[in-house]
Amino acid sequence: MARFGRTTMTDSDLLQIIASLRRENEDLRNSKEQLMARQLHGVVSGGAKKSPRDTDREKEHFLQTKRRRETVNLTQELQKMAAKCEALIAQESRIEELERQLAEVYTCDICRSSYDDETHVPRILKKCGHTLCLYCICQLHAQSQYQSVRCPFCTAITHVFIVDLLPKNYALSRRA
Ligand SMILES: [Zn+2]
Ligand SMILES: [Zn+2]
Repeated sequence: MARFGRTTMTDSDLLQIIASLRRENEDLRNSKEQLMARQLHGVVSGGAKKSPRDTDREKEHFLQTKRRRETVNLTQELQKMAAKCEALIAQESRIEELERQLAEVYTCDICRSSYDDETHVPRILKKCGHTLCLYCICQLHAQSQYQSVRCPFCTAITHVFIVDLLPKNYALSRRA
């Protein structure tokens, strides 16, 4: 005989209550195990059983995330390529500028022709050391009455009978 609140219960009543509590306990344990199994399954295969709509939504979300990641990667790749292109373009324009400067150096300052080994041979005026192309020297020589060349840069006069015999400026005949 036991007392349960104000109600007086018999031993069989108590045994029934205990039995029903045990059943409830058993049910609870079962559903807990089911829940754990479902969670485990979810971790392994990507989700517990869900409605098709949920699955679609998840797929869509997965694809969106994937696409976003790919877009980010592509953007980074493109930015890197753009930076490389810019560096290359800068380098190219530097090279062009250097080539232009170089061409300027290897050009006769009077007629603007590039020095060569035929008509525009770079020759040095012996009196002052300035260099002109053979073509320009010949013209100046032809204008002079005294077999001489008057330097267009410093007006020094170099006497010479045959302009071809003036020393060649080898430093400037690089391209000849
Ligand atoms: Zn010239
Ligand atoms: Zn000179």
